[in-house]
Amino acid sequence: MAMLSGRSSSSTRTENIVTITRTSQQTLLDSVPTALYIDGQWRASTDAGTFVVHDPATGSELAAVADATAADGSAALDAAVDAQKSWARTAPRERAELLRAAFDALIARSEDFALLMTLEMGKPLAEARGEVAYGAEFLRWFSEEAVRVSGRYSTAPDGRMRLLVHKRPVGPCLLITPWNFPLAMATRKVAPAIAAGCTMVIKPAALTPLTTLLFAQILEEVGLPPGVLNVIPTSRAGAVTGPLIADPRLRKLSFTGSTEIGRQLLADSAQQVLRTSMELGGNAPFLVFADADIDAAVEGAVVAKLRNMGEACTAANRFIVHEFVADEFAAKLARKMQRLTVGPGIDPDSELGPLIDQKSRDKVHDLVQDAVTTGASIVTGGQPMPGDGYFYLPTVLSGVGAAARILREEVFGPVAPITTFRDEEEAVRLANDTEYGLVAYVYTRDTARALRMSEELESGMLGINAGVVSNPAAPFGGIKQSGLGREGGSEGIEEYLDTRYVGLADPYA
Ligand code: NAP
Repeated sequence: MAMLSGRSSSSTRTENIVTITRTSQQTLLDSVPTALYIDGQWRASTDAGTFVVHDPATGSELAAVADATAADGSAALDAAVDAQKSWARTAPRERAELLRAAFDALIARSEDFALLMTLEMGKPLAEARGEVAYGAEFLRWFSEEAVRVSGRYSTAPDGRMRLLVHKRPVGPCLLITPWNFPLAMATRKVAPAIAAGCTMVIKPAALTPLTTLLFAQILEEVGLPPGVLNVIPTSRAGAVTGPLIADPRLRKLSFTGSTEIGRQLLADSAQQVLRTSMELGGNAPFLVFADADIDAAVEGAVVAKLRNMGEACTAANRFIVHEFVADEFAAKLARKMQRLTVGPGIDPDSELGPLIDQKSRDKVHDLVQDAVTTGASIVTGGQPMPGDGYFYLPTVLSGVGAAARILREEVFGPVAPITTFRDEEEAVRLANDTEYGLVAYVYTRDTARALRMSEELESGMLGINAGVVSNPAAPFGGIKQSGLGREGGSEGIEEYLDTRYVGLADPYA
């Protein structure tokens, strides 16, 4: 295990933990489905191909998963289309009870899901457990929302008609998810789709398909009818999903991933004017005003920066700190980050795991080097960690210049670049100087200023004196190039519903 200062350990200890848990890991991996799930059947891909899923903490192979072809994608859409009519006719209460049963079943398997995510994605077990609780909550939340879909009946202003407005399921959906939150990104889409009465095809990220497959097994066990959910892991995303997006039977695309791929999929979706939800990249500013409680801001910064090793769309990407408190903030943040234990997620002591792969770690290091070349100083970290796995030292950079790429690009790693501002106007200008608009964080004790920030900052979400905002009961989503649509909250189910209007003749005419 790689260690930072402040904690003592040895590689022997990690070896022991790995040995102790190896048996339970293997038992779990042997029980997780690795086939495609189409029309209620677990099956091999049409060309019998598979691809390998790796453990980012060791680089070792975890499982070989069926590799869907375009023909498999088409079979999955056929199943979703065939199931749509009868699924839309099920009683909302039936769909609600099914989601609630899935919530209970998932919670009962919490430890399995947590270990599986740690294995395929790398996050520390404690964080994986947190994701299980968060991800499962979408099932419970949308079980409650399923029975609350309503419309309205009104009289036209001229009195000559009655207006009936109601909601219908959009129809078969394609759901595409990223690797960084393998469970929550799936439940955030699947649960509202089920609640609304939509059928679906889900394509998980090739790096982390196992969690989605285990989740599908849970839904099968609690009685989700065949064809409602179809899972097609694949190593050839575009070739498999492209024909589905072009298929006129598909009615909606919900995508979570990078802005680059999202833009491309939006353009593809335009061909048949698909309903789309796009949860894309972020470049979150984290503002610390001179009146803030600096210790609280540092606590919040650690969470906002390091949750999921910084591999989160909501990760604080730019620390914009008042010049009076910038040195204190940088020193305290660096001290906290230095004390963190970095190591394989399966070690209960690990607070920070590896990055997902070599390419991601290289990109993080490249951004750090570019920042240094353009004038930044390394307060702590700044290096990949030697040895197995894709670990990177928690890093604080101060005096980051405006030319640094790290201020414009998503870092997706444990690096905190700090810049300074003089007054509120400058802080807002710097914060909004990005094409993204997912989330922002503000630390201040001034309530009026906090309210001004909620109006001035261009982001779909804002944390005030809080380093995490994600909540199943709240509408998650971005503005600008961070996306379209919302997941969670009462808004989340609307993404899977069409509004229909019926005009009725005046009953007195
Ligand atoms: P990504 O490369 O855009 O991939 C996301 C998903 O799209 C994966 O399933 C991927 O499949 C698939 N994909 C890639 N190319 C495709 C294509 N041409 N056609 C159809 N599907 C395609 O993003 P990522 O690296 O997995 O995830 C990180 C990004 O997601 C970051 O930018 C992060 O900010 C964003 N994110 C946003 C949110 C949000 O709610 N706003 C939440 C989490 C993550 P493969 O796995 O096979 O490449």
